[in-house]
Amino acid sequence: MQAVEWRAPHELVVVQRPEPEAADGQLVVEVANCGICGSDLHSYNKGFAAVPGQVLGHEFCGVVLQAPGVEGVAVGDRVTVRPLTPCGHCDRCLAGDVHLCESSVADNIGYGSPGAFAERVLVPRATLGETVFVLPEAVDDRAGALIEPLAVSLRAVRIADAQADDVVLVLGGGMIGLGVVRFLKLRGAGTIVLSDPSPLRRERALALGADVVIDPLVQDTTQEMRALTGPGGMGLGARVDVVIDCAGVAAAFKDALKCVRHGGTVVLTAMYGQRIELVPDRIVEKELSVRGSFAYKDEFPLVIAALANGSVQAEPFISHHFPLDQTPEAFLAQLDRESSLKVLVG
Ligand SMILES: [Zn+2]
Ligand SMILES: [Zn+2]
Repeated sequence: MQAVEWRAPHELVVVQRPEPEAADGQLVVEVANCGICGSDLHSYNKGFAAVPGQVLGHEFCGVVLQAPGVEGVAVGDRVTVRPLTPCGHCDRCLAGDVHLCESSVADNIGYGSPGAFAERVLVPRATLGETVFVLPEAVDDRAGALIEPLAVSLRAVRIADAQADDVVLVLGGGMIGLGVVRFLKLRGAGTIVLSDPSPLRRERALALGADVVIDPLVQDTTQEMRALTGPGGMGLGARVDVVIDCAGVAAAFKDALKCVRHGGTVVLTAMYGQRIELVPDRIVEKELSVRGSFAYKDEFPLVIAALANGSVQAEPFISHHFPLDQTPEAFLAQLDRESSLKVLVG
């Protein structure tokens, strides 16, 4: 079958690989679409989670071709897959925090196990409702590939727990940031502000529910937020209740610490992939809650329901769609932050 291997930084090669074969408790899925994730870009650029020969891709949906011994899943079912595979028996898993599983990494699809930039993909541990979710007809194949990143957005929004009169600042308007805006809107957050240098991303944020957008290249984020909320303690910074960082760059993290009010919350959901300079005093002085938000816990069914009932629509998040054999071109399109939202392959 055709698949795309990561060989070295900036080098993806379309190759022929042997067909995957499902053992008991596994699936083989014919990939319909697979999205390019920010973590795929880190791997593409630096080998973040890839060794030479790794097939990337973990945001996908498709049709089940083999399902030996997988209860409730039949050949022909349309499914999406939770690519992070919990072990099910460590104490984190047993407590229900499957996203914090301490022993799952080797099996994760698109990281250790071959990913979905391929015609077919193996699901190494398939359990309906845990790693496999059957898609309703109302969720098409383009929407199906967005469930994983939308689950990341929803997790960050649930952790942020913004209230109805809160001002929320979202830093970064890629797929995750835009999803955050949408879920904040659905949950009724007070005022939603999104900061991103790309006009396309800002325009899309407004369409998805942002009240105000900021271009951090020409506007000072802190000043803009101060104008909106009034100054923070000692006349400095601003009084933003919640900041959600979906940008993963040093400047955004600094803005977050400046803009958030005393006693406020900062949620970090982007991967930084770099060292950043940090004076932690602000976290102490403002008594901030700084929370990481990693991947997703039990968000997949909630996202599928939101896509099925139309409260979240897929199309505003998608900017490009390439066939599998043009995956290298698709990565170049995704790397252009100015013109890309989610880029799909398939
Ligand atoms: Zn992802
Ligand atoms: Zn575990």
